[in-house]
Amino acid sequence: MISKKMQGFVANSSAIRAMFEEGKKMAAEFGADKVYDFSLGNPNVPAPEEVKQAIIEILNEEDPVLVHGYMNNSGYDDVRAALAAHLNSLYGTNYGSENLVMTVGAAGGLNVMFKTLLNPGDEVITVTPYFGEYRAYAGNYDGVLIESPTDPETFYPDVKDLASKITARTRALIINSPNNPTGVVYPESVLREVADLLLQKQEEFGTEIYIISDEPYREIAFDGIDVPWIPSIYANTIVGSSYSKTLSLPGERIGYLVIPTEAADSKNLIASANVATRILGYVNAPSLMQRVVAKCCDAKTDVDYYDRNRKLLYSALQEDGFECVRPDGAFYMWIKSPVADEREFVAKAKDEERILIVPGRSFGCEGWVRIAYCVAYETIVNALPGFKRVAESYGLK
Ligand code: PLP
Repeated sequence: MISKKMQGFVANSSAIRAMFEEGKKMAAEFGADKVYDFSLGNPNVPAPEEVKQAIIEILNEEDPVLVHGYMNNSGYDDVRAALAAHLNSLYGTNYGSENLVMTVGAAGGLNVMFKTLLNPGDEVITVTPYFGEYRAYAGNYDGVLIESPTDPETFYPDVKDLASKITARTRALIINSPNNPTGVVYPESVLREVADLLLQKQEEFGTEIYIISDEPYREIAFDGIDVPWIPSIYANTIVGSSYSKTLSLPGERIGYLVIPTEAADSKNLIASANVATRILGYVNAPSLMQRVVAKCCDAKTDVDYYDRNRKLLYSALQEDGFECVRPDGAFYMWIKSPVADEREFVAKAKDEERILIVPGRSFGCEGWVRIAYCVAYETIVNALPGFKRVAESYGLK
């Protein structure tokens, strides 16, 4: 008999993953080119050439015992030093290797931080819509995820609503920008308002409230838009990132946490994150990949590829009469369902047009759907007539 807690998690298991599995079955039945799978954020852009070169060089030139061995639970010191120097060059910060903990993707980093911060019943706030796994990650440590709806026009955090959700038990606020699922990037002015609120609430309750900035999409931003470095705005910020999206390495499970010295109790946070990495059973982030990303600090994914997809999809869906949020970053488009229950729209798209999209309630926001456009350009081109027919069937135009 599985545990009660897992019964709950299994029952609410990810609709996105279910859709992805369904897509694979449909592809086997109808042919891969007849199924338009926009369900999962699995980048279609190959990892940059530098990654391959780095793997070859490391395997040819470095000591295999070291390359494949255990190391400090926080990760190789030289790797963390290289990433810290890179961040310092970008953001004018002063991080050292001691401020970084290598993680098993962004997901691993979030789990390490929640294990570090949460006592049972402690609260973590997320703004909606949000990456649905946050609920399970907080629940792993008996934390409670509290939802704060964003501004319905902009999908930016609603500072008034946030103010009403923060309590003496609030340990952290998750900020995810560029955002999954809306594609919105939060401007500095909004983040400053959030920071002011948190400072005020820390004083009111005599607590520390950390921002956990979950930023696996940091480098995927369009039209030169600025993605602010949040630790420069609010000292109690911990950054979690990964190379899953920005170097197209989602299956390699490599990421990092930045715990700045300026964050309250940073020494203990760092010590705890190190131990949490070990005792959660990660032990350390994958060793070969650590060495690879240190060599690939300047490598970049092909943002233009996503931008081309974004432009095509956005203009076509607008033309069809769908209400869409124009994404500034990441590779998701957030569109309003033509019917109140978006599951009906999702089912219609799947059953009639073999278009797979994800209902907004998977992200805590009903009446909307997410389209992951990190797919081949041709997939979008070939799916557009189907989107148009669905729009017409709802009388959108
Ligand atoms: N956070 C957000 C917002 C995501 O969209 C994802 C993955 O899709 C993750 C975290 C997990 O990323 P990783 O694969 O690096 O663990």
